[in-house]
Amino acid sequence: MSRLRSLDALVASGLCAGCGLCAAMVPSVAMRISVRGFARPAVGDLSETELARVLAVCPGANLDGPPAAPSTHAVWGPMQALHRAWATDPGVRHAGASGGVITALCTHLLATGAVDAVLHVGSEAHAPLRTVPRVSTTAAQLVDRAGSRYAPSPVLAGLDDALARHGRIAVVGKPCDIAALRRHVATDPSLPTRIPWMLSFFCAGVPSLVGTEILVRRMGLDPATLTGLRYRGRGWPGRMAATTADGRTASMSYTDSWGGELHRHLQFRCKICPDGTGEHADIAAADAWLTCDGYPDFAERDGISAVLARTEHGAALLAAAVAAGAIQTAPLLPAELMAMQPYQVRRKRVLLGRLAALRLLGQRLPRYRELRLWRNALRGGRALLRDLAGTGLRVLQGRHRE
Ligand SMILES: Cc1cc2nc3c(=O)[nH]c(=O)nc-3n(C[C@H](O)[C@H](O)[C@H](O)COP(=O)(O)OP(=O)(O)OC[C@H]3O[C@@H](n4cnc5c(N)ncnc54)[C@H](O)[C@@H]3O)c2cc1C
Ligand code: SF4
Ligand code: SF4
Repeated sequence: MSRLRSLDALVASGLCAGCGLCAAMVPSVAMRISVRGFARPAVGDLSETELARVLAVCPGANLDGPPAAPSTHAVWGPMQALHRAWATDPGVRHAGASGGVITALCTHLLATGAVDAVLHVGSEAHAPLRTVPRVSTTAAQLVDRAGSRYAPSPVLAGLDDALARHGRIAVVGKPCDIAALRRHVATDPSLPTRIPWMLSFFCAGVPSLVGTEILVRRMGLDPATLTGLRYRGRGWPGRMAATTADGRTASMSYTDSWGGELHRHLQFRCKICPDGTGEHADIAAADAWLTCDGYPDFAERDGISAVLARTEHGAALLAAAVAAGAIQTAPLLPAELMAMQPYQVRRKRVLLGRLAALRLLGQRLPRYRELRLWRNALRGGRALLRDLAGTGLRVLQGRHRE
């Protein structure tokens, strides 16, 4: 396989995750929405040195897991603490995607002065279909931007701006965003103290904007006329909801939006994602779905998150937020998390099959290390072979390429 000579080649191979870090690192790179509806770098002049710097941290080129520790779980990774959790403020809990835990933790960080601002995402003010980096400095801003956005979301494109305007920041991002950021921070001695907290969530993948547009039309609205768009939150799981300039509103259940359409539009990089659970974050949150007949039950109820403290630093933050009354917790066992998150378990176990298909067909693939893929493959069974064949077919049809 040839050495990567450009970011365009990485994008064309279907490996870009759309994190936006390259745009923060190199002035001549900007994030754009591609023809296929994904956030991709538009690359101007890029020197060899700049390319090498980007490729060293880009999660599309390589991704290493954190060093193994006694607390590392085969599927879930580093785990200092695991709980069910929810924000004690009912408004925050209701606004959040699940229990509002990420929003409550960020609010606690701002309130205690641990950080000056939080870099996360929200909708573009005048184009709510677009998900863009946002910097929040108040609890109200955090609550307004709570909830999951199932769309291209290059949060790290906002990193240099956030650091230019604020002393210390927390960053909320998808697992690939946080893995990239962790590497980037390690390259500059000034950054660890300026980005003391990294928070993430479990992630099944980023759908193309095409999926969102299909759903907005299915709700009877014109995507061009939207003044507001939420994917979830305001309940658990909450409804996808859109509003237009002429005051019309429409909504759709989580089962119909994510389950019925959005999951069909995932970028290829997400299908070969080795860490959808935020192993590099200090704290990662997920849906602590109640299960019914062995499967997650998406009936509406008060939100509950599963929260994993991955670092000692993260465990200390969680304990402090509980002691301050910002978050309430209840016990949760790793085995219960397996039943709540079957997609994450399956993807981890079949990943080597998908990667093997790419290798056998001479495709470019990222370098993954320290992510326990062999150990998980031993539990993959026939699904691993099925996914090898499925990925092989996708590659032969050229459907992984952009
Ligand atoms: C694309 C995607 C896929 C997901 N897949 C899963 C899954 O497989 N299993 C699971 O349990 N949970 C998944 N989630 C996460 C889940 O929906 C909740 O975000 C999680 O339970 C945390 O809930 P919370 O109430 O604590 O977060 P909240 O308090 O609602 O805070 C959410 C935070 O995440 C930020 N955010 C929202 N969307 C994005 C985005 N696209 N990129 C970067 N930051 C964002 C917001 O700005 C906010 O700060 C996914 C979320 C996304 C965005
Ligand atoms: S994965 Fe991130 S750093 Fe790599 S090319 Fe895509 S946007 Fe840039
Ligand atoms: S599935 Fe993996 S690669 Fe895709 S957005 Fe989520 S963390 Fe990133």
